[in-house]
Amino acid sequence: MDTLVHPSGVRITIDRGRCVCSETCTSMAPQTFETDDEGLVRLLDGGSDPEAAVRNAAACCPVQAIRVETPGAP
Ligand code: SF4
Repeated sequence: MDTLVHPSGVRITIDRGRCVCSETCTSMAPQTFETDDEGLVRLLDGGSDPEAAVRNAAACCPVQAIRVETPGAP
């Protein structure tokens, strides 16, 4: 697992163990997600894509490897 707090305050968590290297997230939010040397997703410092782009990338991940949570939300 790896976690990043987006500038908007939402918490982004990736589960690299689930990632199947589809590169969907890296194309939809390239300032937040990148592919590492193993071909797996990793988070970039800053995560400067708009929150909506990050949420869309999470929704489109084929294996639900990305969680976007609002602190304090149930
Ligand atoms: S969209 Fe999901 S499976 Fe595809 S690279 Fe991103 S985390 Fe991995």
